[in-house]
Amino acid sequence: MKNTKKPLVTALSFAFALVAYLIADSAIAGQVPDAVPPKATDNAELANIEQILSQVHHCNKSITLRSQGLTPEKVASACQELIAQEDKFHQTFNTLNKPVADDNNHSLRANFYSSRAEYVKYATAHFNMPTDNGGMYLEGYPERKGNHAEFVAYERDGGLWNLSHEYIHYLDGRFNRYGDYCNGLHDDHAGPEFCPSPNLSYPHGVWWSEGVAEYIAWGKNNPKAAEIAASKSYPLSELFNTSANTNGGSDRVYRWGYLAVRFMMENHRDEVEKSLVLSRQGDWLGYQDLMRTWSTSMDKEWFTWLESIAVQAEKSVKTAP
Ligand SMILES: [Zn+2]
Repeated sequence: MKNTKKPLVTALSFAFALVAYLIADSAIAGQVPDAVPPKATDNAELANIEQILSQVHHCNKSITLRSQGLTPEKVASACQELIAQEDKFHQTFNTLNKPVADDNNHSLRANFYSSRAEYVKYATAHFNMPTDNGGMYLEGYPERKGNHAEFVAYERDGGLWNLSHEYIHYLDGRFNRYGDYCNGLHDDHAGPEFCPSPNLSYPHGVWWSEGVAEYIAWGKNNPKAAEIAASKSYPLSELFNTSANTNGGSDRVYRWGYLAVRFMMENHRDEVEKSLVLSRQGDWLGYQDLMRTWSTSMDKEWFTWLESIAVQAEKSVKTAP
């Protein structure tokens, strides 16, 4: 399943990796320039990317913030937040800072326009991406030298929304999962990604990708997920079939994804470790085989666990000031 999109890209004769991750509260998808700077030639009147996103700050060697007008205070707090997330991620997965093979995404650059209007005005020209969304994570072709992972968004209500969630996608992609977006297990093959080989068989990997981004970002304190736990809407075995299109929806992808990942991390870490060995190699058939052995075996325990999460959530509501 590796590199299946290459013939298409060649055929289209432009060098863009097309990748997408949904981010909380807005369906987003994107594409990223491959090793060459994005071109704005169709919009010659627009200033180039370096002129518009002129503020560049390196939080550390893994994270760069580029913006139109982030205040020094916002830059400092964003760096602090991301570095804390990075530490937490490496501790949680004991990565020893060792990326998967063929990964050249040495750092993430987070790009922030100063408003939605500026985002709409420039992002398509700067990154060749649609702007009918809240922001995009652009993984690109991690196996290619010079590739740079980009997050493109805008300041909204004074905040940098989804920043931690997106950064976890970057870390998960670099340390837990081989290959680019099209290489993984999902049913997202519509534009602008155009991943050419549909992974139509279940289970998929969306529960993990979105769930782990929420799990690391929120930790044990995710009130929106706790709120819906009592409904017991899905057996765990069904959540492994969560995907972008057919079995999607915001609650299922993010809240139930969070609950599924948290349950597995807290109660079946040994199985998670087995799955990571496979996902780090890009052995998606093996990954599916493993999940099929899980099947419904944990569903009963899952429902009991959901009850405990719901009870804890109720208690914390009652004791809140
Ligand atoms: Zn996401």
